[in-house]
Amino acid sequence: MSAILMDGKALAADIKRTVKEKCLTMETAPTLAVVLVGDNPASAVYVRSKERDCGECGIRCLDHRLPEDTTEEQLLALVAELNERDDVDGILVQLPLPGQLRERVILEAIDPEKDVDAFHPFNVGRIMQFAPRFLPCTPAGVMELLKRYDVDPAGKECVVIGRSNIVGKPMAMLLLQAGGTVTVCHTRTADLAAHCRRADILVSAAGQVGLVREDMVKPGAVVIDVAMNRDEDGKLCGDCVKAVSDKASYLTPVPGGVGPMTRAMLMVNTLTAAQMRR
Ligand code: NAD
Repeated sequence: MSAILMDGKALAADIKRTVKEKCLTMETAPTLAVVLVGDNPASAVYVRSKERDCGECGIRCLDHRLPEDTTEEQLLALVAELNERDDVDGILVQLPLPGQLRERVILEAIDPEKDVDAFHPFNVGRIMQFAPRFLPCTPAGVMELLKRYDVDPAGKECVVIGRSNIVGKPMAMLLLQAGGTVTVCHTRTADLAAHCRRADILVSAAGQVGLVREDMVKPGAVVIDVAMNRDEDGKLCGDCVKAVSDKASYLTPVPGGVGPMTRAMLMVNTLTAAQMRR
């Protein structure tokens, strides 16, 4: 039997509709400032889709484009200005940044109350304490998908592949907060397959085509494929081989699973930031 595909596209559309309804009740529209430095084509695509999402949700989007050779001082000055502006609720600096800009320095300069990506150490700390204010968009999107499909992590073996600040680590924290027993695997993990086989909920965020094979999946497991890779034909794909679908009970498609949820959660965070500030 094939796994039920978890429809992130449909759920994201529902969430964005709800955000729009709430935005319409506010006196002034929530405002998200998006900062893009340089001309990384993938980043430009991400920023365009975020702007489109804002439009759909009734969120005002301020677009700041800076040249590739922007200095740290210049970017910090823009962040400081956006921090100060009363009409700006959320600030998003699109990553990755050109080499001369230290991501940590820039992210730490964003006012934690406007940190809609939840990358600031203050917000990361709150997540660690199970008292989050903003949830990082990708892991939050995964949790919403689990909820929609009535998958409760409490008491389950949860295995996360990846330990990045953006996906793996916060994902592990949210599953832990939800009552899962969590194992985090990474490139130094000795026997990845053995860990994966124990998982009731397996989240893969490695970014490696073909990493998760069907023999690594427990029958009936819920498999969340976060990765966005390109296969040899240039087609978008996740970490899982196709046959994982024959073993899992639920599986996120790539595309159409976690990706749209990530974008929807940014809209939720922007609304939350606006509600908190007013
Ligand atoms: P990253 O490169 O920062 O981290 C990858 C992690 O996977 C690392 O911690 C590494 O230790 C681990 N890993 C890599 N190869 C492995 C292997 N062979 N065995 C075990 N562990 C391994 O990447 P990231 O930013 O966390 O993103 C991960 C993937 O998720 C990428 O494909 C990215 O495109 C995708 N992503 C998707 C969304 C979305 O909205 N769907 C959002 C963010 C990232």
